[in-house]
Amino acid sequence: MSGTAPEIVPGWETVIGLEVHAELATVTKMFSGAPNRFGGEPNTNIDPVSLGLPGTLPVLNGRAVELAIRVGLALNCTVQRSVFARKNYFYPDMPKDFQISQFDLPINGEGWLELADGRRIGIERAHLEEDTGKSTHVGGGGRIHEAGHSLVDYNRAGVPLIEIVGRPDLRGAEDARAYVSELRSILVAIGASDGKMEEGSMRVDCNVSVRPVGQEELGTRCEVKNINSLRSLGRAIEYEARRQVDLLTAGERIEQQTRHWNEDEGRTHKLRSKEEAFDYRYFPEPDLMPVEPSEEWIAEIRADLPPLPRERRHRLAEAAGMETSAAALTVDRGLDDLAMATIDLGADAGRVLVHLENNLADGVGLLTAGSFTDLIALETGGDLTATQAKTVLASLVAEGGDPAAIASAKGFESMDSGELEAIVDRLISEHPDDWAALTAGDDKERKKKSGFFVGEVMKATRGRADGRAVNELLARRSAG
Ligand code: ADP
Ligand code: MG
Repeated sequence: MSGTAPEIVPGWETVIGLEVHAELATVTKMFSGAPNRFGGEPNTNIDPVSLGLPGTLPVLNGRAVELAIRVGLALNCTVQRSVFARKNYFYPDMPKDFQISQFDLPINGEGWLELADGRRIGIERAHLEEDTGKSTHVGGGGRIHEAGHSLVDYNRAGVPLIEIVGRPDLRGAEDARAYVSELRSILVAIGASDGKMEEGSMRVDCNVSVRPVGQEELGTRCEVKNINSLRSLGRAIEYEARRQVDLLTAGERIEQQTRHWNEDEGRTHKLRSKEEAFDYRYFPEPDLMPVEPSEEWIAEIRADLPPLPRERRHRLAEAAGMETSAAALTVDRGLDDLAMATIDLGADAGRVLVHLENNLADGVGLLTAGSFTDLIALETGGDLTATQAKTVLASLVAEGGDPAAIASAKGFESMDSGELEAIVDRLISEHPDDWAALTAGDDKERKKKSGFFVGEVMKATRGRADGRAVNELLARRSAG
């Protein structure tokens, strides 16, 4: 990865690796038939397995495995034989006192995803695990140590998760946001997750370190938890990078820590140091078999994947003759099929993308590839100005119809060149001093006076004229 990302502190490079947890969009939980559903009254989407009651046994949800494989294939990972493991620790929202996860043998190994600008970010692994319940600490500002009492909701306990561990290939806040957006688009496109950060179905832990520009060796990292939005992610990275650079420039060392992002205060706080880290005493889960997906099943899942955002960007960029980054916004908005169809019908690709990006914020409504193509032909043929085209476009979105008919109903029928020439010639004779200044003046004066004449033409035609055509005509007249 090149160090071209903007430096948060001059002379220092920020290195980021993200661990993203996404809830898989199954109907039921990972190891039982309790519903996997967001919201609902606390402790209603539960059963003995979600509660970890003695004597219950986990039964693996095949759909969760299938979705995990979809994620692995979409992230270009090796899908492999995997083993569930117990991760042991005590917390009230995890009633078994261990979480079933995967450790040394994850379902998805090495992979990558591609950002809109074409850079590839490494994925270390993407493994399956179960979610925990949710604690609410009441009183004391919601912090456990000062709370009067705590409430536990087990609706989320046992919801299937995929944890996607990224390589430290990201450089700066913008990169990290782009990575999470891309990951979210992929998860949503393949139906693996709804990707809603605001509902906690996608959660990001952010590892940040800094190093002097040019240094090969990575700095000591801190892991920041509790990031709930792309905005917080960027803020947390910038805060953390500055904090670490301040320590290093003051001659201190960075201690490897887990830190908590406080959104209101706009800063991170130490939760624990690496020395205080839990020893999870991982061991293979004795109640579950290893998962060994067959080649046929993996091939079937692969064949069922929809076109991914990366492929769609490449496809549109190629059709439009542009860089992949130019196609990103259109693909993000899901308008690339319309763009492709319109370009296929012969419309100017540049105009197609300009309209899709700037003039269709409220959706495409009744716009079709055919009417869009006709509109752009009127525009590039000089029959409609850019502003008029925008107005006709709005009407195509709202009501559909024929662009030429809409244009003439709005009084946008093209001025024939003879009519325009007559108006320009009349204005030249009415403003001889301005015209003399235009023809004799330097570049600056010429520009200024051209602007004056264009303005007069617009007044005379009530905006019907095409500014570009007027300028061309003025240039021709002053040259001849
Ligand atoms: P752990 O198991 O302690 O969380 P890992 O080696 O699995 O440690 O790393 C976890 C995450 O930390 C990965 O997403 C990785 O990209 C990131 N990471 C590792 N080293 C660094 C570093 N020096 N700076 C920033 N991120 C890092
Ligand atoms: Mg970690």
